[in-house]
Amino acid sequence: MKTLREYVQDADSRGVAIGHFNISNLEALWAIFTAAKNLNLPVIVGVSEGEEDFVGTEQAVALVKSFRETYNYPIFLNADHHYSFERVKKAIDAGFDAVIVDAVTLPLEENIALTKKCVEYARKVTAKTGRDIMVEAEIGFIGKSSKVLDEIPEGVSEATMTTPEDAKAFVDATGVDMLAPSIGNIHGIVRSGNPRLHPERVKAIRKATGVPLVLHGGSGTMSEDFINCIKEGIDIVHINTEIRVAFRDGLKKSLQNNPDEVAPYKFLQEGKCAMQAVIEARLKLFNNL
Ligand SMILES: [Zn+2]
Repeated sequence: MKTLREYVQDADSRGVAIGHFNISNLEALWAIFTAAKNLNLPVIVGVSEGEEDFVGTEQAVALVKSFRETYNYPIFLNADHHYSFERVKKAIDAGFDAVIVDAVTLPLEENIALTKKCVEYARKVTAKTGRDIMVEAEIGFIGKSSKVLDEIPEGVSEATMTTPEDAKAFVDATGVDMLAPSIGNIHGIVRSGNPRLHPERVKAIRKATGVPLVLHGGSGTMSEDFINCIKEGIDIVHINTEIRVAFRDGLKKSLQNNPDEVAPYKFLQEGKCAMQAVIEARLKLFNNL
């Protein structure tokens, strides 16, 4: 099986993107795996610090590994938005395939220092174990929470988008494998509509840095914007809020329609299927299917 790095390079050369979807439970993992397998596409499972604490660090690794090995399938695990060296190290030590160091709210020099420390640790583990661990970092604030919002998060504007110069300096200073820039994207879904993305900025940052780019806050984004940004150098797209909403709504409907059902595997089914439908639709879009 190819490594995650090879799948990312492959997506880059073909002008498509790998889907990254977060889990809080086993239902979400089944939904992601089934959707990806139906389309025969590699896929990345993410857990934020909160999701990781809920699922369990070692348990998240074991669960994803069980799908990978049982089905001989390219499914990878990423530590999504980890905020400290200790949390990044814990994920790497447990067996995650990739980590995201999120120090974007710190002053730039501190972001660089923390990211560099995480990259150095990942390289050390790779040298010792042969596991290829990818490290991603962020510059340019895009908001924090994957939920439904009344307005664009404070501190995010066109003026705070990542510049190609800053991106290049950051990648050169840290040696990071992938970069998540701010290109008009935000975490979460804004009720009145998410802002438009800037594909020309993606192109300039990709060219300046030479590393694969990751689009966070994909939920609520227009299809046309996805397609144009993927064409210009986005190789991974994160979707979280959309599948959270799908699960919640599916579960709500199921409980309302079957108030006497007490078997979790029955009343959770509808939430799982709703997530799977969203994931399949997004994967088709990211891969021109
Ligand atoms: Zn994110």
